[in-house]
Amino acid sequence: MGGPAGRAAGADVGGAGPGPRLHHPGAGGRAVTARTVLRFVAHRIKRHPNSEATASARCLHGECEWEARPSTDVGHVDDQCMEHTGRNKDHATFARRFEDVALVERLEGST
Ligand SMILES: [Zn+2]
Repeated sequence: MGGPAGRAAGADVGGAGPGPRLHHPGAGGRAVTARTVLRFVAHRIKRHPNSEATASARCLHGECEWEARPSTDVGHVDDQCMEHTGRNKDHATFARRFEDVALVERLEGST
């Protein structure tokens, strides 16, 4: 039996193709989101609405303990790093970090 081989870049979406298309087995149509079930209670995690991601950077050169002032704008942190390298030619490696506050919500109330 020769099923219709999948064509790449086909433009016949929604056409009346006779062959069944490949579907993922199992539940159909449900979008997979960042969601997990722990003890039958569904939770979801997202960034806390009142928080912003904060970028920071630390110089990795030797014993230099220089750190950039954390900022919600990574561009400001990058500017500080470049300035630091400008003053200290060998100090060109930085550990950058991005940090935010996450909030876990319970999706279905359970008593
Ligand atoms: Zn440094």
